[in-house]
Amino acid sequence: MARRREFSRKVRGEIILRATNERGILVCEGCGLVIGRKPFEVDHTVPEELVTDKSKPLTADDGKLLGTDCCHKPKTKNDIRTIRKSDRVRDRDRGAFKPTKRPLPFGKKSPFKRKITGEVVPR
Ligand SMILES: [Zn+2]
Repeated sequence: MARRREFSRKVRGEIILRATNERGILVCEGCGLVIGRKPFEVDHTVPEELVTDKSKPLTADDGKLLGTDCCHKPKTKNDIRTIRKSDRVRDRDRGAFKPTKRPLPFGKKSPFKRKITGEVVPR
């Protein structure tokens, strides 16, 4: 797996500044909830695992300040799902999975099908 780019100190600062409202209070960029002193994460808007071109350094546009509890945890869960899916699609494209030689009896890949009457016919 390719390396994961982290936000530089400078870019993190820019993002934190952007997420700070006019009264100097930190606000979640996902849902607008006041974070204040609660924990937050600078999230990769596009998960690093899904970025193919990592030649460019990350900028403030690539990240969002998310409250850990309100937005970051749920997003992480969903990101993981997306990443696993992209892994599976890529593996299939590469032919990593061979089609099974023993299809499920009367399954979609079986040469026979069973009609609703119980009659077995070639597919
Ligand atoms: Zn939020």
